[in-house]
Amino acid sequence: MELFETLSRLTAAHGVSGREGQVRELIRTLAEPLCDECSVDAMGNLICRRRGTGPKVMFAAHMDSIGLIAAHVEKEGFVRFGSVGMLPAAAACHQTVRFENGVVAAVAVTKDKEGERFKPSDLYLDLGADSREETERRISLGDTAAYAAPTFLAGRCVISPYLDDRAGCLAMLLAMEALERSGNDLYFVFTTQEEVGLRGAKTAAYAIDPDYGVAVDVTPADDVPEADHAGSSVLGKGAAVAVMNSSMIAHPEMVRLMDRLAAERGIPVQHDVLQRGGTDAGVIHTTRMGVVTGGVSIPTRYIHTPTETAHLDDIRACADLIKAIAESELKEI
Ligand SMILES: [Zn+2]
Repeated sequence: MELFETLSRLTAAHGVSGREGQVRELIRTLAEPLCDECSVDAMGNLICRRRGTGPKVMFAAHMDSIGLIAAHVEKEGFVRFGSVGMLPAAAACHQTVRFENGVVAAVAVTKDKEGERFKPSDLYLDLGADSREETERRISLGDTAAYAAPTFLAGRCVISPYLDDRAGCLAMLLAMEALERSGNDLYFVFTTQEEVGLRGAKTAAYAIDPDYGVAVDVTPADDVPEADHAGSSVLGKGAAVAVMNSSMIAHPEMVRLMDRLAAERGIPVQHDVLQRGGTDAGVIHTTRMGVVTGGVSIPTRYIHTPTETAHLDDIRACADLIKAIAESELKEI
């Protein structure tokens, strides 16, 4: 699997929360040859299993993304929209977005709010239609749209919308591809509806009932000008091992395991202490009687904008760490 080429395909696939069909089909095509069984549950989670007789390990990367949802068509044909997940209005303004059916639109701000702080409700979509009827021929209320920006290589970094969390999905796919023998019963889950409240991971974790859980996601990088140090991870310094975020305090065993595996295999890692933001780990670790859970993340700048920026070497380090965890000898719980 070529890293940049696969990432470009993953980030271009539609997958706004609750409408993950396109991205799920793409991931399924890539994942099916790499596992023993592939299934889709009622929430739309794609569950890829590599059978083993040892403890159950659940890896989770969310395939859904934030986006826009058409909520009202004005008589001139412009569309008012709601946000799905946390869509920063300033980032969305003057972007091009694409609906699941391929229809594109420009995001604009109403005249009276120009130059001010504005909310998503101050924005509208311009489909280039001249009437409500024409707009309604192209889209329906409730249709979702996503940033249409491309994926660029910039030095050793990649700039793209939806590295959150297609970069995590890619890291999991790369690990599955490179995986050698493992005694563990492995579940690689591409989850849905993370951006609206970790909903897919919740039911998947209940069904799988794992002994160990690992969320694979992006984490805000703390290395930009005037960074507020609400996080600790930086680009290019390796996979970010979750210690704490606002959804979970990682099990100390998991932090120790990842540190040890990284040292043994020469994988660059850094500790991730994040005071804002969570991951699927938030619902995995409190499943049933509790699950020994940790997280592996890719430090990313400008999360939830069309110019999310991450380092290719960090994605690779994440994949290597996921592989190492999957292959490690874990205690039966
Ligand atoms: Zn995410």
